[in-house]
Order: sequence, then C-alpha cells, then structure tokens
Amino acid sequence: MIRSNFCRRLAQVAVFLVFGAGGVSSSAAWQTASPAAPAATSPAWQRPPATATAPPPAPVTRADILRGAYGPYRVNNDLLSYHLDIRVDPEKQTVSGKNSIRFKMLQDGTRIQLDLHSALNVDKILLGATPLAYVRDSGAVFVDFPETLHAGQEYTIDFYYSGHPLTTARFGGFTFGKDPAGRPWIYTACEDIGASVWWPNKDQWRDEVENMQISVAIPNGLVDVSNGKFVGKTDLGDGYPRWDWLVQYPVNSYDVALNIGNYAHFSDQLGDLALDFYVLPEDLEKAKKQFVQAKGMIEAYQHYFGEYPFKKDGYKLVEVPYAGMEHQSAVAYGNHFTNGYLGRDWTGVGVSPKFDFIIIHESGHEWFGNSVSAADRSDMWIHEGWTTYLEVLYVEYTFGHEDALKYVNGYKAKVQNREPIIAERGIAATPPQDMYFKGALFLNTLRSVVNDDARWWTLLHDFYQHFKYQNIMTEDVVAYFNQQTGMYLTPLFDQYLRHTAIPTLELKFNEADGTVDYRWQADEPDFAMPIRVGKKNDWQVVQATTYWQTMKTPLKKNEFDVATDLYFVNVSKE
Ligand SMILES: [Zn+2]
Repeated sequence: MIRSNFCRRLAQVAVFLVFGAGGVSSSAAWQTASPAAPAATSPAWQRPPATATAPPPAPVTRADILRGAYGPYRVNNDLLSYHLDIRVDPEKQTVSGKNSIRFKMLQDGTRIQLDLHSALNVDKILLGATPLAYVRDSGAVFVDFPETLHAGQEYTIDFYYSGHPLTTARFGGFTFGKDPAGRPWIYTACEDIGASVWWPNKDQWRDEVENMQISVAIPNGLVDVSNGKFVGKTDLGDGYPRWDWLVQYPVNSYDVALNIGNYAHFSDQLGDLALDFYVLPEDLEKAKKQFVQAKGMIEAYQHYFGEYPFKKDGYKLVEVPYAGMEHQSAVAYGNHFTNGYLGRDWTGVGVSPKFDFIIIHESGHEWFGNSVSAADRSDMWIHEGWTTYLEVLYVEYTFGHEDALKYVNGYKAKVQNREPIIAERGIAATPPQDMYFKGALFLNTLRSVVNDDARWWTLLHDFYQHFKYQNIMTEDVVAYFNQQTGMYLTPLFDQYLRHTAIPTLELKFNEADGTVDYRWQADEPDFAMPIRVGKKNDWQVVQATTYWQTMKTPLKKNEFDVATDLYFVNVSKE
C-alpha cells in the first residue's frame, strides 16, 4: 500500500532519476565492524593528506537504479498482500517455493517490476493457470502480461523460484549456519542487499503490502520463527512440517525474516500484549533474566509514542548469531545476554552498561523503521536517527534526564561530519553512519529549540501517531514540525540533514564595552536557531541568525558558556 501524496510526487522525481547520474557512497558497518582505524603501514609523508571530506563516491550502476528507483513498472501498481510459501532444505542449502503477490493496478499496463537476485532461478510466473513471460535485468524481473491490466483492478500472480540464496553483505543475506552445538541455524538479514536476495518481491521501500502470510516447511525437529502471529504447524507427511505465520500489518520487505533453529520458547505478557522469546536451549536461563528488560522498554516507548504498533502480531525476541536486526514483531537478538553493546559501554559515559543496547535499539524500530518507515533508503535517518533518539528517551524514562543528556552527548565522539545524513534518492544508497548519532543529537537539539518539554512530548507523540504505518520522506517530517510548532524549521533540518557541517556559533568579545557579538556560521543562508548562552543554570536565550548581533554581558570571554549539551553546535570565540 502507498500511503502519502508526497510520495506520489516523489515517484515522478524518481523516474527522472533513472536518467541522472550521481554518487553512491559506501559507509562503515558500525554494527559489525570495529571502528578502529587501520594501522598505518607507510610513513606519514607517503600517505595522502588527512581530509574532512568523504572519499569519492563509487559510480552508480544500472543495478542500483533498477533496485533504488521507483520506476514506471513499480509506480503503476500498489501492493496488497504476499503469501510466501517455501521449503528450506538445510542439507542441500536450497530454498524453493512461491510468493503469491496480490496487487492493484494504479494505471493501465502490461508490465510490472518485481525483483529476485540473479543467483536464484525463476521457475515460472503464473496468472491463474496462464504462464507469464518475463525479462530479467540484474536483480529486476519485469513481468509481462498478455493482456492489459486495468487501473483499479486487483490481480494475483504466483511467482515460483528456487536455488541457493547468497550469504552476503553487512547482515549476512541468507545464512545456512550451525549453532555452537552443531545443529542447523538458518537465518536471514537483508536490509542492505535487499529482500530479493532470498525471495521474490517488489524490493523497494515506498510500497508495502497490507498483510502477509509466511509458510515455511523445514525438517522435523527445527523451529521457524518468522514475523507476525504464529498460526500453526502442519504435518505434510514427508518429514518437513510447515510453520505458518500471519503478519496483520504493513511490513517492509527487508523486515521479513526466517529464523530456523533448535529454539526453546518461553512467553510472558504485558497487559494484553503477548511477549514471546525464542533462544537456543543452552541460553534459556540467561534469556529469562535478560529479556525482562523488554517490558520496561515497551512501557517507555508506549509512554512517549502510544501503543506498541503490532499488537495483534505480538512482540518477539529471537536469538541470532549476529548483533541484531529490527525484523518486525520478531526482533533479532544477538547481544550475548549482557548489557551494553556486545559487552562494551556503547557511548562511553557509564550509562550504556545499565541496559541491553540491542533490546532497546532494535525494538525501538518497531515505532520508527517498521511503523513509521522511510519511503526511500536515502532518508533512512527516519529509521536510525529517530531510533537512536528513542534510546535516549528510554534512558530518560528509566534512569532520568541527567543520564539521558550524558548518553546522547556520548554519541558526539562517533559523529564524523564527512557527508550529509540524507543520501541520493532513487539508487538504494546507504546514508553514512552519522544518520544514527548525529541524527539523535539533532533531535536533542530540536527539543532545546522547542524549549518547552510539555510541548515537546506532545509533538513527539502526535508526530508518531500522525505517520504510523506510513512511508514518508524528510519533507513530511519537516512540514509536520513547521506546522505544529508554528516555527520555520526548514533551514535547521536542512543544515543538519542535507549539509556536512554542523552550525558554528561565532562569538566576538569586547570586554571593555561589556558586549559580545554573535552569529551563526552555517551553509543555509536562512539558518536561525535560538540558543542558551552565558552562565549555566542562568542561561540567556539569544535568537541567533547568520547576521551579526550584539548582546550585553558581564561575563568575560573565558566565563561565557554555551549550552552545548543541549544543542549540537560548534562554538568559536575571539
Ligand atoms: Zn537501527
């Protein structure tokens, strides 16, 4: 389903992007790789000079455009539902079966675009009993119909496929692994490479199905945990019982997951929300202790934003061997049942060891990422910047405001300011890791700009409620905050999200006169932001712009402070 008018406009832009050229940048995988710099192997004079800018972008490929653009054969239809019905063979390491794809045509047409990684075979595509012709072009599968499909009509096609899915990319794609006891452990995580690495679908972010059935036949003795509500297990009489799951809400393709293993299961309840936990049997006791944190997490987020978004599907944590992933209503967990992040104090200020980073972060995505989703990967800060800010809210709710300020400011050390947070649209580009940390620091700054906490909490709640279950772009976020605050915040959002540098507050002291001149140095000519200056606990708010203004102050240059824990800014004094 497509849920915003703005997105329809963008769809047109995306079509033009097909003919444009631009840069796609790669970014560090902060969740899997250590951020340590590579050891220097040559003397300094032989190395290129240090630079504050990003390396040159890799060229955009045809495959990037086919996957990333909302092209003409995507824009002409609207997804309604999927039924993914497959068999997973751990011995042969194959997947086979079909996805039944129901969609409504938005325009008359004879072709639609679906996607399936070229490593997998298309066995046949049927409309009823009629085999359909198709053309494969890198990861895209263009399906051709013998007669015109009509706008407003609904159609279902059965897309049969098989093969060895790839184990690849940051999260693994599709992995046939073993657990520490040597039993099969098979899992998917495909946000970067795309869901079409293991199943055929309309592999983009703008359009989501309304609901989905997931049926997975696996050998006796194994358990499949997928998204949604567990419907039942059916004996097929051939040693491969089928596990059926029902997703009763819109779902991103990349969120759809298989977790197949020798899982032990325990459950709990938060009010009338079912909580289900799946872990290896050896980890059951540790999990029962650690997963108690799930309740406090859900209570904190419900406090700020409202009801858990996928109540009919329940909330699940599923043990996996990688760090974690926000798979909708079946959050993947691999944080070793310890607090912090993989045993580390994640923001380095003593707050992170008080809670399990993966439970708090990946589950925060149920609100931002899974319920409120970005319509293009370029604007993924809507998932990651917001969810990183949700960690800060969790800390504030659970441990208080002082810890929350420490925690969010601890993220400053991770900000790179090498390229803007918003990446190029329409090419499935991955934004830089600043979308997490700088994104959260920006939202903390925005709270200080609003400068009225009661109003801020209402804004956050209403913002989420307004856009829940929708796929939106940054323009929707900015328009909402402009409208609700009555402030013109566009240059502020643009400075933090569309430029590399953060604003610098320039201060020029004239101690003889008892005055200080101040202005913002920023890329946005209309940049304006009130900021607290002077003396801590007795701040003065100045309405700084990019033009010089003068204020009186009894404070000397070295006594004059700026509230840099409330605003993510640079300060220069002269
Ligand atoms: Zn995340």
